[in-house]
Amino acid sequence: MPVREHSVDLTAPDISAYRKGNTGIDFVTTLDSGAPGPHVMINAVTHGNEICGAIALDRLFRLGVRPTRGTLTLAFVNHAAFHNFDPASPRLSRFVDQDINRVWTEEILDGPENSSELRRARELRPIYDTVDHLLDIHSMGTLSPPLMLCNGLDKEIALATAIAVPEHIVCGSGHVVGKRLIEYTPFNDTANRKTGLLVECGQHWARQSAVTALDTALHFLRALDVIKADFFAAHVRDAEPPAQRLLEVTGAVVARTAQFHFVADFRGLESFASAGTVIGRDGGEDVVTPHDDCILVMPNPNAAKGMRAVRFARVMKQPSP
Ligand SMILES: [Zn+2]
Repeated sequence: MPVREHSVDLTAPDISAYRKGNTGIDFVTTLDSGAPGPHVMINAVTHGNEICGAIALDRLFRLGVRPTRGTLTLAFVNHAAFHNFDPASPRLSRFVDQDINRVWTEEILDGPENSSELRRARELRPIYDTVDHLLDIHSMGTLSPPLMLCNGLDKEIALATAIAVPEHIVCGSGHVVGKRLIEYTPFNDTANRKTGLLVECGQHWARQSAVTALDTALHFLRALDVIKADFFAAHVRDAEPPAQRLLEVTGAVVARTAQFHFVADFRGLESFASAGTVIGRDGGEDVVTPHDDCILVMPNPNAAKGMRAVRFARVMKQPSP
């Protein structure tokens, strides 16, 4: 049974003023400090219906954010999908032709396929190739607490920890098909210091998700020492967040039938002490936790056949300093 839809409590901002930008690429603006430093980038609306990121970027622009060193690029990634956002059918504008967050392999990017998202990915790729640190702002289908997602590389964990929000950092993908932007080769490479992090700010259209999106962006810029301390202090909501917890993805469940459902209204981060605990049913069979102390990450109660329904994770030992 599909769960009841969350109400749309956020308003998609008018981003038309940002179309022209200054990079020659629509909806991409690069602010140059004139001083040496990293190229830092924040992405909004990689998925067109995840509007909290657009609200955060619009706010950063209006607040007059400026990097104190290096360059800062702000981008509305899938603006075509975002412009289709309709509060009456808020799920339909995730993408136009295909999920732009599944195409980040050289094979696909250099291949013959064509779509609205592939054209946009190819247009943005030269920017990502020069970015040192990327924050990709997303949101989730359920009322899960916010999550920072990364591949689990030491450099990513170090930055996610320095950012200090959100409370939970999830390492590893438990992924189904294609590659996400944070898995794009230059970011997912232990031989360089580039990092790509993905923040899931909360439910797509919950008010708090927009607060989390702006707060995470501000903490990201502070951690990289590219904004003034007083700019951060003036605009951050949660300056001293609680200690973080690192989770490691141990696996995932893909719905095998159209009858997949969970046995309860799981939101995310529920923890089960014993392996073999029934959490769902799929085509008449039990879906169980695969190990002790198993945590559910991003359960999708609407998972169709062949779609990932949930990731499993366990608490990771903190890396030794
Ligand atoms: Zn997303």
